[in-house]
Amino acid sequence: MSKNEIPFEGFHGKVALITGGASGIGRASALLFAQSGAEVAVVDVDEAGGATVVQEIKDEGGKACFIAGDVTQAAECRWAVEETVKAFGNLHILVNSAGIVHRGTILETSEKEWDRTLAVNLKGIFLACKYAIPEMIQGGGGAIVNISSGWGLAGGRQAAAYCASKGGVVLLTKAMALDHAHQNIRVNCVCPGDTDTPMLRTEARQLGFSVEKFLAGAADRPMGRLGTPEEIAQSVLFLASEAASYITGAVLVVDGGGLAGTG
Ligand code: NAP
Repeated sequence: MSKNEIPFEGFHGKVALITGGASGIGRASALLFAQSGAEVAVVDVDEAGGATVVQEIKDEGGKACFIAGDVTQAAECRWAVEETVKAFGNLHILVNSAGIVHRGTILETSEKEWDRTLAVNLKGIFLACKYAIPEMIQGGGGAIVNISSGWGLAGGRQAAAYCASKGGVVLLTKAMALDHAHQNIRVNCVCPGDTDTPMLRTEARQLGFSVEKFLAGAADRPMGRLGTPEEIAQSVLFLASEAASYITGAVLVVDGGGLAGTG
């Protein structure tokens, strides 16, 4: 991306922690925040992927570090925040992008699969915020962007645990926005539609579909194509930026018109 194409350059001196930053939407966000001047801590269970993203950022002249961490573990979330502050001196932005998909009805979902889906997609946000918010308060404020899903706003077939977790993210976002507005912390969420990341391929496998057919089906929306991780990252960057200084508790749907209506 050339300098002229960067939408918000106001991230110099800002520190962003991005969970799930090794892949997909988190990776694209990490790269975009770094290109916009932020120092970026990439937190993920995928150590090889995380290290690669950090190297990509450094190769472009940005500043980043990788912190291995599982967002379902309180101690690892606390460690990730501590290491971020140790590396960059502060924490202004938290992007909660770590997530997993589980496709199945309630009858097709084991208790273990339910627990894991809710633990990564919902409890992981609770834990990351629990340790990040005190740092933001100390620094005078911050911005949190949670990645929910179109399936946090409308139900999808054979996705019971996933929809439950993503619906939870939407209302957790709004509740947190109310609680922390007076501390100058804005909390918003992005609801992407189907986006071309490794997660979609995992879904195809879980449902026993060919990846090609599944991706073609997922593109069946008004704009006739999947979203790109870079397009979702632009909306994340906007919500974290000064351009969104009066926006909190908002739900930004980025889905090529998928939820726009039934016509
Ligand atoms: P992705 O490419 O699979 O990236 C998710 C990343 O999170 C992976 O690196 C994954 O590591 C990591 N992760 C999984 N569990 C973790 C844990 N417990 N702790 C820390 N990191 C963990 O998926 P994506 O499509 O970018 O998804 C990002 C977010 O967008 C998710 O919350 C997803 O639900 C949401 N979303 C995606 C779509 C879509 O169509 N792609 C649509 C709507 C919403 P591993 O690969 O090792 O598991």
